[in-house]
Amino acid sequence: MRYIEMGSTGNRASIIGQGTWKMGEDSTRRRQEIDAIRTGIEAGMTLIDTAEMYADGGAERVVADAIADCRDDVFVVSKVWPTNASYDDTLRAAQGSLARLNREYIDLYLLHWPSSKAPVEETMRAMRTLIADGLIRSVGVSNFSVELMQQAQEALGDTPLTANQLPFHLRRRVIEKEILPYTQQSRVTVMAYSPLGHGDFPEPGSPERQLLDEIAGRYNATAQQIALSWVVSRAGVVAIPKASSLEHVRENAAAADIQLTPDEVRQIDERFPLPEEEYKVRWLG
Ligand code: NAP
Repeated sequence: MRYIEMGSTGNRASIIGQGTWKMGEDSTRRRQEIDAIRTGIEAGMTLIDTAEMYADGGAERVVADAIADCRDDVFVVSKVWPTNASYDDTLRAAQGSLARLNREYIDLYLLHWPSSKAPVEETMRAMRTLIADGLIRSVGVSNFSVELMQQAQEALGDTPLTANQLPFHLRRRVIEKEILPYTQQSRVTVMAYSPLGHGDFPEPGSPERQLLDEIAGRYNATAQQIALSWVVSRAGVVAIPKASSLEHVRENAAAADIQLTPDEVRQIDERFPLPEEEYKVRWLG
């Protein structure tokens, strides 16, 4: 596993971590989900992404059980939902997440989406209070444009904006146009969500898949591992695939050790071109 600094905090996290969306929804799958997260941690994927919104707090409870004996050895990211983005509600939401996670602090706390009601400045003011109170260790955002990141950073003052969690996979490269150059220059880590396309992955036999399979053959790997390796080939980007199958978990961790050559990265870039359109902001809440 490779580890990189999150933003400019000095704290390191695994370059490939674990998503938890859809976990905690069904009690019959709970054991499997806990085992998956634990297997990932054992394989070095200590970066764990969750949110109060996932299964209404259920995913955070699954994470709590999975990390019960290694709470201080993992880097936990959670998120406040935009309907809770006012100053008071953000403080309350963080307390709720901490109680469900059974932890004294959150390593990185994000605003999940831009809020149509609470101004960014207000949520970031709450984030500063949470940092001052020691309840969170760093602050980030998710689904934010460059302009909104700049507003967040201005409101945070001398507290650095640590991360922006964004969709980034082979078929969704729009963040590379404007957002990634900005985050790289400002030392904001991009957390690539849905790095395997959330099910939208090139079909076996398609020309896109053939290229991935061909490269995968050289590394005794799968096409999905090559896709993850490509995501984290970008500077300042970590990936958070979600896997509940133990085989997938192990493959995802091993993908961090695949170092694609510049020529392989170029071939993949050409096969999955940048879109015409720019990143569009969606406001929720
Ligand atoms: P994803 O990670 O791109 O895809 C998950 C799917 O890929 C699951 O069906 C999983 O199957 C499968 N998979 C995982 N590893 C695999 C492998 N090695 N080979 C083949 N298939 C594999 O999609 P995602 O869940 O949308 O995104 C990941 C995480 O990002 C989420 O869980 C969440 O934490 C975060 N996220 C954040 C936002 C946001 O707004 N901030 C939005 C979406 C997602 P199994 O489960 O059966 O193993």
